[in-house]
Order: sequence, then structure tokens, then C-alpha cells
Amino acid sequence: MMRNRGQLFIVSAPSGAGKTTLCNALLERFPDIRFSISYTTRPPRADEREGIDYHFITEEEFMKRTEAGRWAEWAEVHNNFYGTSSESLNETLSEGYDILFEIDVQGTFQLLKRYPDSVTIFIMPPSYDVLKRRLESRSTDAKDVIATRILNAEKEMAEKDRYRHIIVNDQLSEAVEEFVSIIEKYR
Ligand code: ADP
Ligand code: 5GP
Repeated sequence: MMRNRGQLFIVSAPSGAGKTTLCNALLERFPDIRFSISYTTRPPRADEREGIDYHFITEEEFMKRTEAGRWAEWAEVHNNFYGTSSESLNETLSEGYDILFEIDVQGTFQLLKRYPDSVTIFIMPPSYDVLKRRLESRSTDAKDVIATRILNAEKEMAEKDRYRHIIVNDQLSEAVEEFVSIIEKYR
């Protein structure tokens, strides 16, 4: 049954913990949940496509949108800018869809101010070593980029207790089932 307004599900994690993998698995299980496609000034990775993974924009365009107040939330993360368009968010919510965000901790707290009943989920890696290995094996980022992301991981993980749910992504299939059962509780 469609409600007047959809539910917001917000997922955060340090880079490499597996949030994209888990979110993709979740969206396959719940095809009627809409994924919030963020805007970013980060260059696309080889396997990323415009308008599917992100909207890739210049820093100049990002600043213009910031000045015009077009973000529901935005943040600087790992030396790049990321933001959620207010217009797209309002449109998706007014259509009654549930929406899944994959955003950082700063963005989460901005969205929670506007939508305090959002369901927040933090994904943890089983250990730092595993996190580092996953970032390296993904082979999408340069060494210095990986180093920045690992440095930021500790700061991000310090916020995990402010999230409603925490999933440790060790065995992928188990983490997916845990994620699915959390989402089911709210639908
Ligand atoms: P994030 O979106 O959090 O940066 P990704 O989803 O891109 O992380 O995952 C980082 C890397 O780790 C990818 O290569 C992915 O295939 C791998 N990965 C994700 N979850 C697991 C898991 N449970 N076990 C082993 N490898 C995983
Ligand atoms: P990546 O570059 O690995 O895709 O993402 C880097 C970080 O930026 C991740 O923590 C991701 O969740 C976050 N991020 C992606 N989109 C947004 C967004 O729209 N807003 C905010 N605040 N963070 C985002």
C-alpha cells in the first residue's frame, strides 16, 4: 500500500566497507525502493555511469547549486563535494516511494534534522585490515586516494552509535539478509 510520503533509509559506512555492494543487493530485493542519485565533483570510476551511480558535475556547478540552496544536504568528503538534490528528493517522496541514500555521516545528520523519522543504518567492516584490503582489491582508486579514505575511516566509525542499526559486513550473504530484515521491519 502506498503511503502519503515514503520512508527514508540512510546508509553510511567508511569507504570500502561494502555499502554500494549491500545497497545494490537490497535494491534487487526491493525493486520499488528508489535509490537517491547524488551529485558529486569526484571523477567517475571506470565502471560508473552518469545518472545511474552519480550525477558528475564540476566544482563550479556544485557551488552554483549550493548558492542557490538546491541541496537537501551536502558535504565535502575525501576532498570532493557530494550533495542530494532537494528537488529530486521532494519529487520521489511526493510520489510515495521509499528512498535509499548512500551518504556520509555529515549528510546523514543534516537529513535527520529535516526528516527525524529516517531509518539510519551504519555498515562496519570486520576490521581495519579487511577494510584496507577491500579498498585495494576494488582497484578503483589511486594509492593516495585510498590513504585518505583509510585516514577518514576512524572519524566516520566514531559516529556509528548515532545510527539506529549497525551491520557488520563480514560474510556478504549474511550482511545482505540482515539488511533486508531491517528494511522489512519498516515497510
Ligand atoms: P563502499 O561502497 O562502502 O565504498 P564497496 O561496496 O565498493 O564499498 O565494496 C568495496 C570492495 O569490497 C568491493 O570490491 C566489493 O566487491 C568488496 N566487498 C564488499 N562486501 C564484501 C564482503 N562481505 N566480503 C568480501 N568483499 C566484499
Ligand atoms: P564514493 O566516492 O566512494 O562514491 O563516496 C565517498 C563518500 O561520499 C561515501 O561516504 C558516500 O556515502 C558519500 N556520499 C555519496 N553521495 C553523497 C551525498 O549526496 N551526500 C553526502 N553527504 N555524502 C555522499
